[in-house]
Amino acid sequence: MDIAAKQAIALSVVIPCYNERDGIAELHRRVTAACDAQAGSSYEIVLVIDGATDGTREAIFDLAGKDTHIVAIDLARNYGHQIALSAGLELCRGQRILILDADLQDPPELLGPMMVKMDEGFDVVYGQRLKRDGESLFKRTSASLFYRLLRRMVDIDIAADTGDFRLMSRRAVDHLNAMPERYRFIRGMVNWIGLKQTAFHYHRQPRFAGTTHYPLRKMVLLAIDAMTSFSIAPLRFASHLGMLFGLIGLVALGYTIFSWLEGNVLPGWTSLAAIVLILGSVQLLFLGIFGEYLGRMYMETKRRPLYIVNEILCSDMVAEAADAHVHRLQALVRGNAGV
Ligand code: UDP
Ligand code: MG
Repeated sequence: MDIAAKQAIALSVVIPCYNERDGIAELHRRVTAACDAQAGSSYEIVLVIDGATDGTREAIFDLAGKDTHIVAIDLARNYGHQIALSAGLELCRGQRILILDADLQDPPELLGPMMVKMDEGFDVVYGQRLKRDGESLFKRTSASLFYRLLRRMVDIDIAADTGDFRLMSRRAVDHLNAMPERYRFIRGMVNWIGLKQTAFHYHRQPRFAGTTHYPLRKMVLLAIDAMTSFSIAPLRFASHLGMLFGLIGLVALGYTIFSWLEGNVLPGWTSLAAIVLILGSVQLLFLGIFGEYLGRMYMETKRRPLYIVNEILCSDMVAEAADAHVHRLQALVRGNAGV
């Protein structure tokens, strides 16, 4: 589609939605109010349905039938938060893009002040949490530990206590969309791009409805994605540890020879067994880490699409103005007659 159509929209709000049925109406109300105040009628609300199973899809499609600002993208299954977000970012058309969670933990009303900040010449205004209401002590400490560890391991400076809540310029999103990797830690990728970025401090609210979709298992997986996508430090750590054990071995050898010359015979079995066990487990651990990187390389080499779209529901007008990417998916776009 031509660039004029792409430029026609001032603002896109991209929201990945998993099982968020009970919060959708309130989300729509608050996001619409914020957009109306900031962008007049020149905005779209891109709701990405990430294989929801609780009626979220129906609730969103119902809203899309009433509100021409909504673009509902139904993915073929649950691909996970970061991929759902990538789908929304790829398909949105705004000149400025706000990334929001569906649970209203990050208040849509902050759009105004974030826009003002962006007017100062920034490409990315990222939310940084000052306080996290309604989150368990465990979640808060594990999140804070994770960010601190990550910052020590990676070369780029990922700000602590940031999520994906951020306002981005079109050129920043275009750069992000051009990054083809499968294991996506989006806040890190945005940081990697560079350009002018600034923090915007805010208080994170409790969820409006439902419970978190990031249990410990998923948090650990995201942490592993983040670390392996941005750092080869774990691999380097293997060689450092190897050298350390080599040195310890040399010292132990010197000691053994010395005691042998002294005429002492070492009892030795227990210490020997311990050393063999420790070395064995360290080797296995690092075999696992190598495997992690190798597996990721294997998955990346397949070059499968990141996601499959089942269906896109939007008004006829939006469908007509759809950009080149949506064009490619035209068969999937269902213009909503009567809207
Ligand atoms: N989400 C998603 N797919 C998933 C899990 C989550 O699209 O597989 C969405 C979810 O609907 C929400 C956002 O990602 O809008 C963040 O999820 P959540 O609020 O559960 O994470 P938390 O804020 O607890 O870290
Ligand atoms: Mg949340």
